[in-house]
Amino acid sequence: MVVEAFAKINWILNITGRRGDGYHLLDMLMQPVSLADRITLLPSEELSLTVAGGGNIPADDRNLALRAAKLLRKETGVSAGAAIRLEKHIPSQAGMGGGSSDAAAVLTALNRLWSTGLSGEELEALGVRLGADVPFLIRGGLARTRGIGEQLESIPSGRAYSLLVLQPEGGLSTAEIFRAWHDMPAGRSADPEAALSAILSGSVAGHASAFANVLEPVSRRFCPEIGTLIRALYDCGADLAQMTGSGSAVFGVFSGADVRNRAAAVLSPRCPKCWCCETQEESIRFQEDA
Ligand code: ATP
Repeated sequence: MVVEAFAKINWILNITGRRGDGYHLLDMLMQPVSLADRITLLPSEELSLTVAGGGNIPADDRNLALRAAKLLRKETGVSAGAAIRLEKHIPSQAGMGGGSSDAAAVLTALNRLWSTGLSGEELEALGVRLGADVPFLIRGGLARTRGIGEQLESIPSGRAYSLLVLQPEGGLSTAEIFRAWHDMPAGRSADPEAALSAILSGSVAGHASAFANVLEPVSRRFCPEIGTLIRALYDCGADLAQMTGSGSAVFGVFSGADVRNRAAAVLSPRCPKCWCCETQEESIRFQEDA
């Protein structure tokens, strides 16, 4: 079984509070993008993981793909195993949900391979125990996500946007950015309704001020190049340029693939970690379905 696990962008990210147990309450608009890890799963007596590419991604119990497999096995009581091979293409520590996407795809794929018969909702409920972005990455589509990631509102959207993603050298730790956010003066929040209606009507260019990621000022303090790359994207004609998740990647939204490709030609020599992609509906694609 071969499955593609797609990355995501945050159109907006607001922090609305904190639960007693320390988890942050979020309000986000997210969408999958056409950058994917490739995961191969074969029936096996043991559960094992190998990782190819992506630098120093651990293949042990720190890996969200393996943790997802173990969680599903524990919760359903199956004794089967699987040989999982993960080929990393999504940039790491980028705010693109790379690890979460792998976890979402492994939960979904093993639910088929092991015939455990969990519904989408049941998989999402397991997924949130692995990370705030996992339920969304199981479901896909344009979605507003609230709470700690468990409250999902899917929004039908037929539009695909042309994006250019840039990542400065070095990533950022999500936990560290959330910790540092508490010591920063509150930044500008996004207006979720206005941002959503701009996305749906294709008028992002005229409504850039409705979009925001409240973690951006914190991440820029750790990595000033984030600000430089956002300005460079605007200089190259982006309708909107913003950081995704807790960074360090930023994305520019362009009016079409031509202008985006011209921007990529200008910026890729300056920023080698540069990817052209589009927003899309699917967050997980089984190869036989492709
Ligand atoms: P998010 O948007 O969910 O915060 P991110 O891009 O900030 O994602 P990831 O790249 O998904 O973060 O992962 C960050 C860390 O998690 C890495 O440094 C890595 O060591 C660890 N990790 C665990 N499992 C995975 C995985 N399957 N893929 C990538 N990183 C993983």
